[in-house]
Amino acid sequence: MIRKFLGRVFSGRMFRPAPSKVIPLKVHRIAREHISRCAATTCATLQQHGHAAYVVGGAVRDLLLGREPKDYDVATSASPEQVRAIFRRSRIIGRRFRLVHVMCGSETVEVATFRGSTDSGTDERQTTDEHGRILRDNVFGSLEDDARRRDFTVNAMFYDPVREEVLDYHHGVPDLKARRLRMIGDAAQRYREDPIRMLRAVRLAASRGLEIEPHTRKPIRALAELLQNVPQARVFDEMMKLLLSGHAAEGVRRLRKEGLHHGLLPLLDVILEQPLGERFVMSALENTDQRINAGKPISPGFLFAALSWHEVLAAWKQAEARGMNTMPALFQAMDQVGQLQAEKLAIPRRYGGDMKEIWALQPRFLNRSGRRPYHLLEHARFRAGYDFLLLRCESGELDAEIGRWWEKFQHADEAARAGMLLKETVGAGKKRRRPRRRKKPAAAAATGIAAPEVAGT
Ligand code: ATP
Ligand code: MG
Repeated sequence: MIRKFLGRVFSGRMFRPAPSKVIPLKVHRIAREHISRCAATTCATLQQHGHAAYVVGGAVRDLLLGREPKDYDVATSASPEQVRAIFRRSRIIGRRFRLVHVMCGSETVEVATFRGSTDSGTDERQTTDEHGRILRDNVFGSLEDDARRRDFTVNAMFYDPVREEVLDYHHGVPDLKARRLRMIGDAAQRYREDPIRMLRAVRLAASRGLEIEPHTRKPIRALAELLQNVPQARVFDEMMKLLLSGHAAEGVRRLRKEGLHHGLLPLLDVILEQPLGERFVMSALENTDQRINAGKPISPGFLFAALSWHEVLAAWKQAEARGMNTMPALFQAMDQVGQLQAEKLAIPRRYGGDMKEIWALQPRFLNRSGRRPYHLLEHARFRAGYDFLLLRCESGELDAEIGRWWEKFQHADEAARAGMLLKETVGAGKKRRRPRRRKKPAAAAATGIAAPEVAGT
């Protein structure tokens, strides 16, 4: 009996939060004018109706870090129905978690009722699978309960815009100051409840410049395989957040450091293990980060095309080695990889078209004679194809001279362009149209690829 009790204490199941610490404005310096109007008025209105209401989670963390929050979440003691009744422009959403979207102008704030958890695990509103993963979690609770069921201490702070106070139950403020990411409660148990928390730890550490505290970090390697039980779509969403965080390169580096990349994006496994593939993916991620941090739009299709490129490349070269012509070989490779993505990676089909277009343009950049370069310049997707070509050059897959040629060609005047056309490949188009009867040993040379590497050898 005693042993069981101690077991529960040490496993964190009896974990009780420290009394809340109220942090005043002069310390936290988040004035109510600094936060979204919609979030501030939503909290104020709920409070006027007699409910507790706070801005919570990532928004408070980011405000304390001096960053503009991406979105605002509000936590309240009111039930979803009560919230819905107070705000005319609101609607209840979600099945696993019932939330209310409150809309003001073009802004939407997500309002959630304080959530608790049952210690016994026998409550039918909270069910777990055989690994301890929480499948259903619809128990309402107090403010303290809500703080305790959040993942990291820096994500469990509440900001009251009316009083301009921050409530900190789990030492989130000092942790944030020390740039420390610490799990609330027993880290291993919290990862078992929801393995996505391992990915969240890596993403938040990479994107907010935090160190994962040793007790929070230690269980990750051993529990990494639990991610296999999480629905693909959730893993995919979390990967997208990482890839679009503006810190994708650092995020992927850290995933590898924690042993988490295996089986996440199956393509990453293969690619990162080939030196050329790794350089290519890392350049693509660094490029994406730079664009995001400069406020430029990025296309997920381009990013997926980059992540899968070396898979396409390997299949392409294999098909060529079997004697297929360049273009049919490429199309066959694209179909093969496309199918794999749809089945295993949950990459939404709507990106498939973009990806194929970018890949299919690649061989066309190798034709630098006659009218072909002019036609390519006119192509609606020239820019994406060219950016992709530069990544191939940067990674050492293609001769950098090809990238430089296209850079110069697109900006040159008519006379200069004519002078740039390569003489030695004039007429090559005609030759290539001749049917090939015998297998050519140097097939890869047609693709202009620097170092042939064939997958599966
Ligand atoms: P960002 O919005 O930058 O992705 P975030 O921390 O705000 O980061 P959200 O997914 O918006 O992430 O979640 C909002 C809050 O909900 C978190 O700050 C955390 O308190 C809580 N939360 C989210 N996911 C989990 C989880 N898997 N387990 C426990 N708490 C979570
Ligand atoms: Mg958020």
